[in-house]
Amino acid sequence: MSDPKPKLKVAVLTSGGDSAGMNAAVRAVVKGSILQGCETWIVREGYEGLVRGNTESADTAASREAPQNANLKVYDSDFIANLRFGDGTLLRDGTADFSDGRSLHGRYIVRVGWDDVRGWFSEGGTLIGTARSTTFRTNEGRLKAAYNLIKEGIDALVVCGGDGSLTGADVFRAEWPTLVATLRSEGRISEEQAKYHGHLRIVGLVGSIDNDMSMTDMTIGAPTALHRICEAIDSIHSTALSHSRAFVLEVMGRHCGWLALLAGVSSGADFVFIPERPPQCIPWEDEMCEAIQRQRGVGKRKTIVIVAEGAHDKELNPIRADHVKDVLSERLGLDTRVTTLGHTQRGGRPCAMDRLLPTLQGLDAVDALLEATPETPSYMIGVRENKITRVPLMEAVAMTRSVAQLISEKNFEKAMELRDPEFKESLQGFLYTANVPRPDFVLPKEKRLRIAIMHMGAPAGGMNAATRAAARYCLYHGHTPLAIHNGFKGLLNDHIHDLSWLGVDNWAVRGGSELGTNRAMPDIDLGGVASQFQKYQLDALLMIGGFEAFTALKMLDEARKHYPSFHVPLVHLPATISNNVPMTEFSLGSDTSVNALVDACDAIKQSASASRNRVFVVETQGGKCGYIATVGALAVGASIVYTPETGITLDKLRSDVKFLKVRYGLDVKGKAEGRIIIRNEQASSVYTTEVLNKMFQEEGGSLFDSRAAALGHTLQGGVPSPIDRARAVRLSLKCMAFIEHEHAALQALPRAARGVHRQSAAVITIQGSSVQWVPVQEMVEHADMANRRGKTAWWLGLKAVVEALCARPQLIGDK
Ligand code: ATP
Repeated sequence: MSDPKPKLKVAVLTSGGDSAGMNAAVRAVVKGSILQGCETWIVREGYEGLVRGNTESADTAASREAPQNANLKVYDSDFIANLRFGDGTLLRDGTADFSDGRSLHGRYIVRVGWDDVRGWFSEGGTLIGTARSTTFRTNEGRLKAAYNLIKEGIDALVVCGGDGSLTGADVFRAEWPTLVATLRSEGRISEEQAKYHGHLRIVGLVGSIDNDMSMTDMTIGAPTALHRICEAIDSIHSTALSHSRAFVLEVMGRHCGWLALLAGVSSGADFVFIPERPPQCIPWEDEMCEAIQRQRGVGKRKTIVIVAEGAHDKELNPIRADHVKDVLSERLGLDTRVTTLGHTQRGGRPCAMDRLLPTLQGLDAVDALLEATPETPSYMIGVRENKITRVPLMEAVAMTRSVAQLISEKNFEKAMELRDPEFKESLQGFLYTANVPRPDFVLPKEKRLRIAIMHMGAPAGGMNAATRAAARYCLYHGHTPLAIHNGFKGLLNDHIHDLSWLGVDNWAVRGGSELGTNRAMPDIDLGGVASQFQKYQLDALLMIGGFEAFTALKMLDEARKHYPSFHVPLVHLPATISNNVPMTEFSLGSDTSVNALVDACDAIKQSASASRNRVFVVETQGGKCGYIATVGALAVGASIVYTPETGITLDKLRSDVKFLKVRYGLDVKGKAEGRIIIRNEQASSVYTTEVLNKMFQEEGGSLFDSRAAALGHTLQGGVPSPIDRARAVRLSLKCMAFIEHEHAALQALPRAARGVHRQSAAVITIQGSSVQWVPVQEMVEHADMANRRGKTAWWLGLKAVVEALCARPQLIGDK
């Protein structure tokens, strides 16, 4: 048997600029460490709180009110001790005093319990406070910080902040043995304390809205900042269009253009300035004016230019929004306004990704602390290829700084190389979709294709953005993009027309399906479909949709032996809120729908807490795939999730009722609590949402009440999320490049071989952070065709995380 894990005393702090998702990270560290049997502290006001420490003594758990129903048997009494440290009100109001008489005056390092972090998901910023501490930069300050930690008996620290904060963490750890020796020699700590605290365990989480840290794909707060920027641009669009105005938006990003670039791609902006790729010309004003003049020349009525805070020209002269405005006004005569988003970018409710990632990262941070030895480096918890990663903290900081250094040396190419592939592809995507085609980029006549685009199945966020990107890529290279309206029925009825550059201009941000979509399969008339391919001389077909599109692709591929007109590249770009297409980790629309679920559940939870103890049984779409339910449950902090993959049994329901009774029984008296239960629409044909609702109503008795809410089509979302829009552009352009390549490959084959050229009928999938093409026939092997989902999925294990974060095993001893 392996050694039992050490019982650590863990503290967590947030430092540097605040970012959305920091609360989720703190919540995960608090919950994760309690689940591992550790004691947990929060440090208020970043490193400054560590330096100040506690001048007042802490109150104790015993002063807290007893649970409502103390005679309920609870499985793990240690856990209850930790749970009762909190009552869910700590720090929520940003004050240092609480309704129960507790006070934080003179206390910066505060023991917290499970319920202290309840409801933190939906709050922006950081509830435990952050600061930039000059004192901590000094040896004297760090000596005080070490003393304060040792005084509280804390031996492990999680720091959530930017590269400065993580550097501070590494400096602190490296210096720790000297700090301990000094404190001992000064007689401020005992020999025993010096021995016990010989090693400080430190782990870093990256909280930074700029997404500027190397060795991780995403930093905590960056996705929410992108949401805020895109919301602002979406609002500006209508005014810009109404008055035919130009708007110049300045967004954050001193050394990293991620926010500006992704906002540009996902909102269909017209020009972006980012530090990594300054304009190619000097003076840059000519380049910008030429691009915008060409856009205006084809009839565009609005212009959106995005300027990153750290933008500059090739000679590193800063490019400022005001100057861009002057140039647009004076040289192009455009009515131009500047909007500086400033701190609005940091704030507001965290988006789904800023709840999910910090949760998984916070839990891993606790594991990393438990596994740390004096020999292991301090780790930074990141995310790569959809997996939580650990990298040596200082390596990541050094690489981050080298990007800034390369930029300052005007080595932009190398700086770009150090950004991840998604960044580079987004830049390419922006250039293809924003710029008006120029005759010099058009392919020779014999290489120009007629590419049809069709939407299939239910609408999903990003379908229109993908279509816009495909159409613009086609026009850029001289291909003809053809829209097929209303799926295969529309094709049979000649609902097909050319897409124009201007016609798709506003599609980047539109929800629904501009082409119209339905579930009709090509086998309604395969011969008819083939002859329409011939009639319109289609050289390729791009189908954007869910499982239907996958099934249709399979049919077309199988029909190739009978119909030579299908001997062309046939491509499926997965787009479905159910995220049930096999082998791809994310389909377009899946991020939008989880965000829609989060929005709905935040509102529902608020209403529940305002009335009385109540559970809400929230029904989600998703068909036979529990993706939205599971990932949504993790993102809203749901108490229970029911999915088709695991189904619902009577035993499970009995245990769920017991869990809810125990949990409500432990709540503080007089405070109403709302809890969310998520049920996928097809989790069970017997235990329907209404049955569950009635059962919980009946069983809740005086402890809790129940209500049901079916979210239905609202989960398709209104405006697609920026992540879905940016992903749509990236994947769509890859589809176009694939079509060009496969078309050439097919042409090179003898006619007889074209019908069996399997790789030219393929699905584009996201596997990790890489994009993989999978021939449709290979996909079939990974598909559960009867249940219309993949045979396996990366997110299945998240259900256990949902339950762990409700302490179900600790409360009732079962899963
Ligand atoms: P943001 O990306 O929002 O600026 P950041 O973490 O990079 O966040 P900084 O102001 O650079 O923000 O650092 C936050 C705090 O970390 C500093 O105020 C300081 O207390 C501590 N810190 C930074 N660098 C060091 C260092 N070299 N040694 C000790 N402490 C440091």
